[in-house]
Amino acid sequence: MSSTAGQRTRRPRPEAALSPPPPAPAEPSVPPSNASRSKPAEKRPFLLDFFPLEGPEHTKLYRFYDRLREGQLSTTRCRRDGELHWPPRTACPTCRSEDLEWVDLPERGHVYAFSAVLVGAPLGMENEVPFAVGLVDLDGVPLRVFGRIEGRPWSELRIGQTVRPEAYDIGDGRMFYRFRTVD
Ligand SMILES: [Zn+2]
Repeated sequence: MSSTAGQRTRRPRPEAALSPPPPAPAEPSVPPSNASRSKPAEKRPFLLDFFPLEGPEHTKLYRFYDRLREGQLSTTRCRRDGELHWPPRTACPTCRSEDLEWVDLPERGHVYAFSAVLVGAPLGMENEVPFAVGLVDLDGVPLRVFGRIEGRPWSELRIGQTVRPEAYDIGDGRMFYRFRTVD
């Protein structure tokens, strides 16, 4: 399987949930007279809330988040041609079949590439700078997954570093995944 892994590796799609958010729009200037009518400070503009809504009323991919809540990273696989998708899909991008199954992903991978966010962090993450993001090749499957990497300072990360996916609560009950260094 490893010999074909490189050929089948999918490049991360732009719509991957953890893709860098679009540039933040300039903050609207609110005249002092309107300050009392502006929304509470903790309410963020919709466009800057780049974590998806996760319930079945919002997404057909809610099972992805249900499994994250159970601590497991998962995705979809096409029953017709066997293609493994990332991110999970509602229809196979190759054959258009909607006959997909959910599969758990390996609990280990290796850093293919990484970078560090040193300045200009997205709104709400200013206090977490610096932090690392990267591409991880999951062991045994032809998937290269983008995500944040925790566990050690970015300056100590290395290509090939062993990591494992982990689930975490982003603070409002929604779940997301990231990677954490192993050993
Ligand atoms: Zn297919």
